[in-house]
Amino acid sequence: MIALRAQESLSAAPYSTYRIGGPIDRAYFPCSMNEAVDLLKGLDAVTVLGWGSNSLIASRGIRGDVLITRKMDWVESVSSTGLIFGAGVHLAKSAAAAQKVSLHGAEYMIGIPGTMGGAVRMNAGALGQETAQVVQRVWVFERESKTVQVWSANECQFQYRHSALEPNKHIVLQVECEFAPGNLAEITQMMEGSIAFRKAHHPTEPNGGSVFKNPKPETAGALLDEMGAKSWTEGGVRVSPMHANFIVNTGEGTSTDVLRLMVRMKASVFERHGLTLQPENILMGDITEEEARLWSYLQRRDLSGIDVSEVPEFLRGLF
Ligand SMILES: Cc1cc2nc3c(=O)[nH]c(=O)nc-3n(C[C@H](O)[C@H](O)[C@H](O)COP(=O)(O)OP(=O)(O)OC[C@H]3O[C@@H](n4cnc5c(N)ncnc54)[C@H](O)[C@@H]3O)c2cc1C
Repeated sequence: MIALRAQESLSAAPYSTYRIGGPIDRAYFPCSMNEAVDLLKGLDAVTVLGWGSNSLIASRGIRGDVLITRKMDWVESVSSTGLIFGAGVHLAKSAAAAQKVSLHGAEYMIGIPGTMGGAVRMNAGALGQETAQVVQRVWVFERESKTVQVWSANECQFQYRHSALEPNKHIVLQVECEFAPGNLAEITQMMEGSIAFRKAHHPTEPNGGSVFKNPKPETAGALLDEMGAKSWTEGGVRVSPMHANFIVNTGEGTSTDVLRLMVRMKASVFERHGLTLQPENILMGDITEEEARLWSYLQRRDLSGIDVSEVPEFLRGLF
């Protein structure tokens, strides 16, 4: 067995759709389940990255070992309605694989720029469909026991944009999905509609999708739009003029810029509506002290009676 070689001091920015992120100490790109398992057995700690489409990577980069799944991109048919996907299969490829054999249930994947592993961890969804509806079994490397376990959909405990997979502890290796027999014309129409909608409503500048989860029945985008957030900027990032729940990198954005803007968005929605937005984006890497403070504020579920000394200085006027 030849040990998988690491790429050293690789810039993380091309591996995040924000195009933000400093150097990764050691990055690994396994191509098969065996390669991934052998690698993981030999590592004490690891950060896992799919397509980086929901991840804000620290501008100081990621210390230690990072497993990037995008070469784990196999697709296998297991029955007339069942497909197995490697954790790194891009969701557009998954949608196309299901469409090719007229299977219904994967249409939403066409417009989501992530991987199957990231979609399971985040329970990604759109068009009224979500990953939880199609997952049958998930092959998970459990870091504590260093073994591969097969989880049922129940064990994944899917919720809105959330699952029981713990960051960097439970690593998705492959996923079996069950779809319904469908009508090719209807499947294609749904997929084309999704692509057209995204072209019309989503920014083209680098971004990480929705920064906050929707506080149902409201949408974070509508609440923020109403407050004029589309004109807000911070350093090298700004709220997208096309979608108030997206932050775009205008060129020189940093992870601190994104977090500061998110804090302003969260604080303002609380001030105006009394609603506490929760981040959908995930922060990873070697964060500064200020970033740690901003992130801890962003994760607070209750902002009422907040001690003003906990609020970042530039926001104190809001409280
Ligand atoms: C333009 C745009 C539009 C988007 N639209 C949608 C949408 O409509 N609906 C939606 O739900 N999301 C959407 N997203 C968000 C994002 O695409 C999804 O959350 C996607 O599932 C993330 O997959 P990823 O591979 O990029 O994950 P990453 O960003 O790489 O990782 C996200 C998290 O999952 C973990 N992870 C990744 N791979 C694995 C693995 N194999 N095993 C264990 N953990 C893993 C990472 O450690 C991290 O904690 C959008 C993003 C963008 C940029």
